[in-house]
Amino acid sequence: MIELSGLSKSFGSLEVLRDIDLQVERGEVVCVIGPSGSGKSTLLRCVNLLEVPSAGKVSVDGTELTDPDTDLDGARRHVGMVFQQFNLFSHLSVLENLTVAQRKVLGRSKDESEKVARENLDKVGLAEKADSMPAQLSGGQQQRVAIARALSMNPHVMLFDEPTSALDPELVGDVLGVMRQLADEGMTMLVVTHEMQFAREVADRVLFMDGGGIIEQGPPAEVIGNPKEERTRTFLARVL
Ligand code: ATP
Ligand code: MG
Repeated sequence: MIELSGLSKSFGSLEVLRDIDLQVERGEVVCVIGPSGSGKSTLLRCVNLLEVPSAGKVSVDGTELTDPDTDLDGARRHVGMVFQQFNLFSHLSVLENLTVAQRKVLGRSKDESEKVARENLDKVGLAEKADSMPAQLSGGQQQRVAIARALSMNPHVMLFDEPTSALDPELVGDVLGVMRQLADEGMTMLVVTHEMQFAREVADRVLFMDGGGIIEQGPPAEVIGNPKEERTRTFLARVL
């Protein structure tokens, strides 16, 4: 579903990702953990070519995004992304936030896009907020709107970059609950997170990154519960 091979990324002389190989299977949930600056966000951004890799290949759904002949906009439609900052359009209502890309990018009609939007708002528990403005919502509600917006594009893969890091602690649970539900429904997910409990319970596989490389990976019970590498242990001792 997602396939990265020999992926490297440098910013000037700074090598941020070093020769990463990673395959995420259909329906698999992979959580990425690691210290600040280890390259987690850059890895995620390379999956939809928000960052252009310095070397290596990126494929999603069998389409190679790093192939210059690929229709990048077309391929990106299948990849939903949710960031730490929710990035909602502040001048548009919740419903409009969910319909604008459906109409402009997918060419859906007003009725069809609103129907899809309402289904997804319902899914994240915010059906009654369709006509609210983003500023009227809590951070956790805004993040759930951002998830519903991504889902309204019918992505084949969802990328999450620390989706709960900007939230007050009491709002984190609702967002993780929506992500857990998506995982249960079989969505393919690559999730950068500091929520170790979520990673333990929901991830099929955990990757520990440090210094631009994957240091260790495996089932959460192994990587979080019984890490092999000293660097993983040191990191976990700080965050657990
Ligand atoms: P955090 O946990 O703090 O979010 P991260 O693991 O997501 O960290 P990245 O954001 O991927 O780390 O950054 C990895 C390295 O790449 C850092 O040293 C960062 O300063 C550098 N970097 C990231 N983006 C750029 C950029 N656009 N230009 C230059 N350097 C960058
Ligand atoms: Mg980051």
